[in-house]
Parts: sequence; C-alpha cells; structure tokens
Amino acid sequence: MSKNISKYLHQQMDKEAGINHVAHRTKIVATVGPACDSYDQLLALVKAGVNVFRLNFSHGSHEDKGKIIEHIRNINKTQPYNISILADLQGPKLRVGEIENNALPVVEGDILTFTNEKCVGTLEKIYVSYPNLSEDVVVGNVIMIDDGKIEVKVVEITKEKNVKVVVTLGGLISSKKGINLPDTKISLPALTEKDLIDLAFIIEQKCDWVALSFVRSVDDIILLRKKLNEKESKTKIIAKIEKPEALVNIRDIIIESDAIMIARGDLGVELPVEKIPLIQRDLIRKCIHRAKPVIVATQMMESMIDRVKPNRSEITDVANAVLEGADAVMLSGETAAGNHPTLVVETMRKIILQVEHTEYRYNREEDLKPQSHSPSFISDAVCYNACKIAHDLKADALIGMTQSGYTGFMLSSYRPKSPLFIFSKEKALINQLSLSWGVRAFYYNEEESVDDIISDQINILKERGFIEKDHVVINTGSTPVDQHLPTNMIKVTKVD
Ligand code: PEP
Repeated sequence: MSKNISKYLHQQMDKEAGINHVAHRTKIVATVGPACDSYDQLLALVKAGVNVFRLNFSHGSHEDKGKIIEHIRNINKTQPYNISILADLQGPKLRVGEIENNALPVVEGDILTFTNEKCVGTLEKIYVSYPNLSEDVVVGNVIMIDDGKIEVKVVEITKEKNVKVVVTLGGLISSKKGINLPDTKISLPALTEKDLIDLAFIIEQKCDWVALSFVRSVDDIILLRKKLNEKESKTKIIAKIEKPEALVNIRDIIIESDAIMIARGDLGVELPVEKIPLIQRDLIRKCIHRAKPVIVATQMMESMIDRVKPNRSEITDVANAVLEGADAVMLSGETAAGNHPTLVVETMRKIILQVEHTEYRYNREEDLKPQSHSPSFISDAVCYNACKIAHDLKADALIGMTQSGYTGFMLSSYRPKSPLFIFSKEKALINQLSLSWGVRAFYYNEEESVDDIISDQINILKERGFIEKDHVVINTGSTPVDQHLPTNMIKVTKVD
C-alpha cells in the first residue's frame, strides 16, 4: 500500500458507516422543489436512492437555489454519497402572459389575437412572451397552449404585428401557460437573457451539470460550451431533446454534448405523442453507442404526485427505460411538488432493482462494439475487452481510472454486470459520474507505480466492504503512469 492511502481510508471509512452496498445501477434524478427542499428531506431522498438532484431554473430564486445547493454539498461532505447537481436552464420557453381571473375558456372556432404588447389576457388580446412571433409564424401554423391541451391555428398576421388565430381544440387558458410551435422555426437565441444570468450563477456555484432546454442544433451546444470555457468552468452539458429540429441534428448534438435528456414532456407536444416510445429507444441506443449518459424524463411516476402507488403503466414505463439501457430515470413534479417524494423514489428504486436483477437486464449488443475509425479506438477496445474479461471471469469488481471522465463513461456504456468503480483525481468528476449507469466514483490522486495504484484501489474497496479475499478484480489504467495516456492496460487480480 502506498504511503498516503490511510488518508483515503480514514475519510471513506468514516463516511461509509452503515451504508447499504446494494446499489441500483440505473441512476435516479429527482427534481427539487417545495416538497423536498430542506436538508432532512433531501437526505431522506438520497437514502431512498437519489443520485442526482435537478434544480429547475424555470422556477424559484437564486437565493432558494443557493440554499438547496448548500444542503446537497453538506450531504456529500457528511454522508457517504457523491450526489450530483444538475441545473436545468429554462431556455427559450414561450408563455402566455397573465390571464384575466386566471381562466379564459375558449371553444373551437373562437378567434384570438396574440400580441407582444404586455396586457392582461382576454378574448380580445393575449400577451405572448415572444417578440418575433408575427415574423416567425405563417398562416396555417399550429400553436399549442398548456402542453397541447388547447390548439389554435394562425389565420392572419396583422399590420400591427399581431397574430390572429382560430381555436381548433378548446379548453381553459390560464396565466403563464407554456406555448409550443411545432411547425415554426423559432428565431429566439438558445440562451435567453434569463438563461445567461442563471448560467453565471450556475458557474459560480460550480454545479456538476447544466441542461440546455429546447436545443435545436449543435451550435446551441457549442455556444454554451464557449460560455463555460470562458469562465474555465468544469460543468458538463446535457442537451435536452424536446424539439423535432434536434432529432434531425441528433448525431452532432450527441457528439458535442456530455449527456442527453429525453425531455418527453415538450417532445410529446412538439411531435405526435405516439412517436415518443421509439424515439426514446433510438436515442438511448445512440447515446450508449457514443458513451454519453442518457436520462429518460417526465411523467414516469406522475400519479404518485397524489397517490401512494403508481399506475401499472408507470411501473412498466420505468422498467422499460431500464431494459432499454438508460443511464438514469428522472422525477419532476413527483418529488418537487408531490405528496410522497420519498415514497416515489423508494418505489422507483424497487422497480429498477427488480429489472436489473434478472436475465432480462440490458445487454449491449455486439453491433455497438468499438469502431476502428474512432480516434479513441485503442482505449475503447481496452475498455470493451476489460468488460468482456470481467464478464467471463464473473469479476467481483471492475475498476477504472479517469482524468477526463472518458474511461468512466466508456466502461459504464458496456453496462457490465460486475460492480463498476471509477477512481479520479479530478474532484469535479466524482459527483458528475453519479449520473452515469452503475458508476461509483472515488477521489484518488496518487501517481506512483501502476502496481501501487492497483493495490491501493483494491485495498480501498476492500476496506470499504465492496470486495473481499479471493474476489477477482479487473483493473484498467494507463502506463507509463506519468504520461497520463488514455486507458491502455488491463490487469486481473485475485484479492489476498
Ligand atoms: C420535459 O419537457 O420533459 C422536460 C423535462 O422539460 P421541463 O420540465 O423543463 O419542461
């Protein structure tokens, strides 16, 4: 054991006391809101199985977000967890303004007028937070209000730059409801003024992940990356896929992003809902192939906002996301504003474990093997074969080391049966990797010989109770140690 190892052991052992090692491998993302934002409530959610907390910047103040971030950081400091913080930018979300008495009933055939002049909405005029509406839409375009509950069609663009629409699906319009324009090319920037202010806060708070809403092209991701790089931020980017345009540009978006969220809420408004299941399946497969974490989001356990048991269809939805190989499943209103935040996480975790412990668990197909034309082919092949050896030997642990995160994401993408442990000297990565399927990450910054590193890592896992004598462990790493090369070696050890 190298000389400095005791410091890791001490820290980790103290923290580890009493933790249940039977972890679910598909991660759980929970949105924080008034139903769960105290330290004790957040800790209860973590104990129930949450790996990542999502802060939704469409709601709440920076002051409130700051308090929640402090609570999560305190949990990470005092408990044996590396909970990740995901900051979700609102993006160019369009909304109607205030509505008179907060309720405007409209019926098929009603003619409404949308304006960009602020006013209290009535049958006469409704304010829409989109200055270019009259320039971007054309007669015949569909506009959806409140997740598509109300539908209207553009009939005229007036000389005063108002947009007249006819109601094609009636309902009740209330204040601040969202608007979707499925067949309009929206000219709003990917990062709105609000997003830029929120982003400055997110960077200052060193959040682990930032999600960009309504991504349309790879340029949106490149712009956000530039903003992060300007501030030397280590925050990683999640592209939220919720626009049809994003699907057209999906290859480049996946390559340029660090992770993907299948934001089924808006996606199901912008596209015919029946398309969502196959889009989900296809996106998960594409992300696994590129070793990019993928989150399935929205309405997974919606009925548990009020009730103590999920619908059978919700159970099947979560199970299917696990079977399809998603890195993470996400809760929104269920934890943020629901009546049973802890129970919903416990229930979701049970569903995940049920699937993962069967022969039906996800197996990455052979056609998704490392690609010889990839610039990272050598390290990809090493990771792939480390997973194969771990599988053949039924290894008790598969250990990777990473500086950029790449090896962690790559090993995870093979969804190995062996428990996966990733060591890194990059502190930011330890929490970031919590989003990645099956990864348990540890801080480790010794750089002596490969032999020392391997024996340290095995000893750390042994001391923490993850492995024991006679267990078989597969290590990946890179040698010569001081050259920090991509992963280039595999070692098999029988623990003594
Ligand atoms: C979604 O639309 O599914 C989603 C996750 O985005 P938001 O909750 O920000 O609307």
